[in-house]
Amino acid sequence: MDALGCALLPAFCALCGSPLPQLSSVPICAACWTEFPVQSGSLCARCGDLLDAPALAVPSSSGLCRPCRLAPPPFVRAVAYGPYQDRMRAAIHALKYDRLHPLARALGRMLAQAIAQLAADAPSEMLVVPVPLHRSKHAQRGFNQARSLAVHALDALRKTHPAWRLTLASSTLMRLRPTESQAGLTSHQRRSNVRGAFSVSDPAAVTAKHILVIDDILTTGATARAAAQALVRAGAASVWVATLARARRNNELHLGSNFQDAEDTTGLSGSSPDAAEQQTSIYSSHDQPSF
Ligand SMILES: [Zn+2]
Ligand SMILES: [Zn+2]
Repeated sequence: MDALGCALLPAFCALCGSPLPQLSSVPICAACWTEFPVQSGSLCARCGDLLDAPALAVPSSSGLCRPCRLAPPPFVRAVAYGPYQDRMRAAIHALKYDRLHPLARALGRMLAQAIAQLAADAPSEMLVVPVPLHRSKHAQRGFNQARSLAVHALDALRKTHPAWRLTLASSTLMRLRPTESQAGLTSHQRRSNVRGAFSVSDPAAVTAKHILVIDDILTTGATARAAAQALVRAGAASVWVATLARARRNNELHLGSNFQDAEDTTGLSGSSPDAAEQQTSIYSSHDQPSF
């Protein structure tokens, strides 16, 4: 943030609107920083979704949610800092749509805490791959929030986990086409929407490598599945996922347009068109996801 940018920032908290005692490069009040929700409750050991959802995620002895039991994702594990609600939701909006870039550092530190949950189990050397935007969306927004968050998270992790060799590899994944919101799409359209959304630019660069995929929000897990699938097909040894926030799958089912802003809109992906079909049927037998 340059000096002009600092001077232009409002003297009000970007999240709650209360006056700030002093002009700050990060316009968030002290109270709001303490009120970011953190992930709690019983979580799926694989995808990190809450296990207390009545329809989709009946807790089982496996510790996995129903979608993970029926169609295991191509990633080893997905972790998030906190639920996509309240202050977290407002902060991600402020970063992405209001372009409050100074927020990326603080949010990146939260992402680092999520990544640190993997430290005990994940490989000691990994390539860190932010989920890319399609070039049309990148041009429109001007930056990829997943990359910004990854850069700041790695900064933080270099201090807290100096032996962990995490290397940013931003250009590894490509988004081949813009993916539309899943809202209002039929299950057939959802499958079309997800098919082949990602490609690996240089398969040799990921062959036998362990990959950590980074995104701001994980919603249905469809984007994470599609990205992980592309990396595994290109020869990655394993794929792990960390996001800043986790939108609750069971909540979003009935919220419709409230969740259209989530980036995780590539649909429900499986390891093949058939698996994608099966995955979609997991939902259609209960409730239709709203995007
Ligand atoms: Zn505030
Ligand atoms: Zn799961």
